Amino acid sequence: MTEGPLFERLALLGSGLIGSSIARAARASGATRAIVATARSAATRARVAELGIADRVAETNAEAVEGADLVIVCVPVGRSGEVAAEIGPHLKSGATVSDVGSVKGSVLAAMAPHFGPDIHFVPAHPVAGTEHSGPDAGFAGLFVNRWCILTPPAGADSGATTRLAAFWRALGANVETMSAEHHDLVLAITSHVPHLIAYTIVGTADDLQTVTRSEVIKFSAGGFRDFTRIAASDPTMWRDVFLSNREAVLEMLGRFNEDLAALARAIRWSDGDALFDLFTRTRAIRRGIVETGQDSGAADFGRPQVTLPLAPVPRPYAADSE
Ligand code: NAP
Repeated sequence: MTEGPLFERLALLGSGLIGSSIARAARASGATRAIVATARSAATRARVAELGIADRVAETNAEAVEGADLVIVCVPVGRSGEVAAEIGPHLKSGATVSDVGSVKGSVLAAMAPHFGPDIHFVPAHPVAGTEHSGPDAGFAGLFVNRWCILTPPAGADSGATTRLAAFWRALGANVETMSAEHHDLVLAITSHVPHLIAYTIVGTADDLQTVTRSEVIKFSAGGFRDFTRIAASDPTMWRDVFLSNREAVLEMLGRFNEDLAALARAIRWSDGDALFDLFTRTRAIRRGIVETGQDSGAADFGRPQVTLPLAPVPRPYAADSE
């Protein structure tokens, strides 16, 4: 719980996984006094009203930002520019505007021109999510112990940045500040390329003519199913991420392809030491992730373990031995 609301009125533009999680967490923490939410479609707006996660559901983005002192744009990154253009003329003077986009450079370039000098624009990216979308997918604890990266542009108001950081901390996140360019490079390797690899491997398996789809699914516990979780992520969001972070993704993909070729070479030439050394290094990285609390250390990602029933083993040879 915060001591008092950090912001009087929060406007959330977009009420999917991230927007609706912010609404729930902001209310649970008391970080804002009132929450206004909106979404593109009438169906989502109706669902948000039904869920009761906002104090008011506005019909349009322009209406939602009226009087808000914190506005967070939670739409796919490809839509951020048009949303900024819609809200620009309706923002309260002195308001802080932020976003949650997974790419920062292109979002900054698309949104910033629409805000006057009296608006504090501080882009952000909570590095937290699931493969689910929509207002029902959100939950208040999504950001707890996850990082939220702020990328204030040069000359951004430090008071607004500090208050936004306090807001994210109130939602349970740890906060770090860096440039948009640096963010995009780091996230290209930690998030964007892994998603691309997952999309590729799942697509390749699906395309294989010699392995039927039922066998791919049947034997998926061999490793494949862990890729399918990532490859089930929202198609609109991820299309926009790759198109918006083109340079950094291509740079990291180039490095990845080189390393993959080196691995293929090690396999071809039976260089077991090279394989063993790499796998030892990667295992240590996994341990580091668990140690810093970014994932569970439980076996198989904490999936429930099935125990054997305690029934006696049938003995078909019993008749012979008695
Ligand atoms: P989502 O569940 O698909 O929700 C997107 C929301 O944006 C929906 O409510 C949608 O409304 C709304 N929307 C789309 N265009 C709009 C517009 N022009 N005006 C107002 N609302 C609009 O997506 P999400 O997972 O929350 O992702 C939202 C943002 O968070 C993306 O920029 C993504 O990069 C970022 N992000 C996502 C994750 C993740 O793991 N999912 C993690 C960190 C950051 P309708 O439902 O009516 O279409």
